[in-house]
Amino acid sequence: MIIAGKTTLEDLPRACPILSRKTNRQYGDTLVRVVDVQGVHFGADRPIVIAGPCAVESRDQMLELASLAKQAGADMLRGGAYKPRTSPHEFQGLGLAGLKILREASQETGLPVVTEVMDTRLVEQVAEYADMIQIGSRNMQCYPLLTEVGRTGKPVLLKRGMAASLVEWLGAAEYIAKEGNLDIVLCERGIKTFPSGEYCRYSLDLNVIQAVRGETFLPVIVDPSHATGVAAMVEPASRAAVEFGADGLLIEVTTGRRTASAPKCDAAQAINPEQLRRIVEFAHAHQRRAGPAP
Ligand code: PEP
Ligand code: MN
Repeated sequence: MIIAGKTTLEDLPRACPILSRKTNRQYGDTLVRVVDVQGVHFGADRPIVIAGPCAVESRDQMLELASLAKQAGADMLRGGAYKPRTSPHEFQGLGLAGLKILREASQETGLPVVTEVMDTRLVEQVAEYADMIQIGSRNMQCYPLLTEVGRTGKPVLLKRGMAASLVEWLGAAEYIAKEGNLDIVLCERGIKTFPSGEYCRYSLDLNVIQAVRGETFLPVIVDPSHATGVAAMVEPASRAAVEFGADGLLIEVTTGRRTASAPKCDAAQAINPEQLRRIVEFAHAHQRRAGPAP
């Protein structure tokens, strides 16, 4: 039986001629292309740790968390200024004000910053403030957004759609690459499976790391926060991801102060700075073979 639209990994060279190892031989069978984000090198000698709040909620909150992330040894900052929320009645992020706060946090700490863009009309604005642009799970297949982000020439963090196959994920990356932008870092963030919502938020698909490695030369990192949705699972999931060969981690943190108010989004998965420090120590101790210089 022939099924319309059916794709398998065999279709990758045709679907992704720029990113497939089979058609683009520059990186051979094993080398990873190093992506440089203001001096932070994904796919180089050791895993990279990106940390910060789910959303930028205020200047004080972001600057405090940025400083805690830096003290914990993180390499980069995260924080959403435009948030994809299930309900339009929930906190949507601070928008442009949030981007300005992120820039300030980056300047204060010297750590580059990644933040999400959801709207093609805002790509230029987000690109002005971010060192790396995030495409979220819900927008992985928003093809006009991928094209626009590709055209900025900024490094892109492309999260895996929560129900996306590897071919679909790499097909999305190919849209960015087609614009001449190969500075793409993939991010596994958990996929929907039958227990999702029972004891975990999604299922962390660590197997995909080695599959990515086999099919393409792009670095791949893991987001243990959204993948599990449970703060207590974030540290072991981070260690497992590093053992599976992840090129980095994207982690949500909170201050850990009892007196502090709970984060407005994803409070249950936010870890404290001490947990972050332990994860950074573990991740940074894992040396990798070096890829070609960026
Ligand atoms: C995020 O990292 O801020 C986020 C919303 O994650 P995801 O797109 O993976 O749900
Ligand atoms: Mn979040």
